[in-house]
Amino acid sequence: MQTIGNYINGEIVAPAGGAFLDNVEPATGQVYSQVPDSDERDVSAAIEAAQAAFATWSTTPAEKRCAALLRIADLLEANLEAFARAESVDTGKPITRARVLEIPRAVKNFRFFASAILHERSDLHVMDRDAINYTLRRPRGVCGLISPWNLPLYLLTWKVAPALAVGATAVAKPSELTPMTAHLLAQICMQAGLPPGVLNIVHGNGPRAGAALVADPRVSTISFTGGTRTGGDIARVAAPLLKKLSLELGGKNPTIVFADADPDAIDGSVQAAFSNQGQICLCGSRLFVEEAIYRAFVERFVEKTRQLRLGDPLDEATQQGALVSAAHRDKVESYVQLARAERGRILCGGHRPTDLSDRCGGGYFFEPTVIVDLPASCRVNQEEIFGPVVSIIPFVDERDVITAANGVPYGLSASIWTSNLSRAHRVADQLAAGTVWVNCWLVRDLRVPFGGTKQSGVGREGGDEALRFFTEPKNVCIRTPSN
Ligand code: NDP
Repeated sequence: MQTIGNYINGEIVAPAGGAFLDNVEPATGQVYSQVPDSDERDVSAAIEAAQAAFATWSTTPAEKRCAALLRIADLLEANLEAFARAESVDTGKPITRARVLEIPRAVKNFRFFASAILHERSDLHVMDRDAINYTLRRPRGVCGLISPWNLPLYLLTWKVAPALAVGATAVAKPSELTPMTAHLLAQICMQAGLPPGVLNIVHGNGPRAGAALVADPRVSTISFTGGTRTGGDIARVAAPLLKKLSLELGGKNPTIVFADADPDAIDGSVQAAFSNQGQICLCGSRLFVEEAIYRAFVERFVEKTRQLRLGDPLDEATQQGALVSAAHRDKVESYVQLARAERGRILCGGHRPTDLSDRCGGGYFFEPTVIVDLPASCRVNQEEIFGPVVSIIPFVDERDVITAANGVPYGLSASIWTSNLSRAHRVADQLAAGTVWVNCWLVRDLRVPFGGTKQSGVGREGGDEALRFFTEPKNVCIRTPSN
């Protein structure tokens, strides 16, 4: 059984208290590795290392920081297969998804911010003839980066890359459920020659290791992705300490299909509902379909859902893997029971599969599930389930569907399917969401602002937004007397 360590000051070290947590493979339900159960001492040592490294890293020329991040990207790419396998085993996601999408995206995160830092623009404001202002952007010291289990390396590197690119140093706390690719990343950073302390990775429980990171006054900046409730807990601790906060939280995203949509809308909305077993914050779990096409659409949607191949995540043909944990599978299942109690009709799925291979017999699988006949206001249509469960709701009127789509506490993303361009613009403008896709879903350009409104979060990641988040602007005003 593999035992992993924390990455502190350039070395892999055991946790100070010597305690470890079991790490379970979701596809089998078996413990397969041991993860540090870190406490305040480990977090404190990591912060100390990051503080010490800041003096040098923050003044290292951008070209050198860029080169270090590119070396990490190259090594990640060279080890793509090992990373993909580790991610699949750790999370239960299909290996093809990890190989084709998520690990390549982690490579891109490093390359994108490595090059972005070379193309930074400075602001200059000239005041008639009296003075000029220029704005310096300086890295914000030690940053705490807390990431979830659903896209472990993809989301961790989405924070690490911009923080390091601007010259900040970091202490990262990945989800204890999925620590393995963060551990591999630590090894790559050592191989790439990243100076000790620039990036530190502390494993362990959120309420202990994560909370210690948030509460430590030496950490000026917290970038968090995870659940809305945890985001609130973090804000309660960080706000009185006046830390800069970015919170990327939950979603309950609408997919809206108008009667004039291209037939691609079916595949697109199946993908939006069930990618990564529905465990993506951007998944479209409420599917609104215009009444004129409702019956035929639902029939095709169910047919396509039934065709999704569920099975061993390490099997190349698998499209639906396991959910991340027994507790999460139980939560998803409880929502399906709630849907029945709320008088929803389950058109397909709704159960744990019974025909899995021997290896996966104890795994945390759940069938992709399609529910109809529930009102938009019921709990199943209001609360984040974060699993392979979609509720289909008919609508007749554009205005009504906008009201229903916006009628949840969340506002992360939405996707609209229509061939009417004017309607696409009109509806996109009125949806309360940080991202609106038209005739597509999850098309990601790393330059655009990414984040949510309402309970889906505060702040934006991506492109300039991320570079600005990890830096502090300082305006310098110089008087320029005309004579
Ligand atoms: P959690 O909020 O449970 O955990 C996220 C991270 O925070 C984990 O590393 C966790 O550690 C840590 N954590 C937990 N409690 C604390 C605390 N008190 N202080 C500091 N850190 C803490 O989310 P999940 O991991 O369950 O992820 C799923 C959620 O993430 C969903 O709601 C999903 O919508 C959201 N999400 C949002 C995205 C976005 O961009 N808006 C993207 C992806 C997911 P540990 O796991 O070890 O407890």
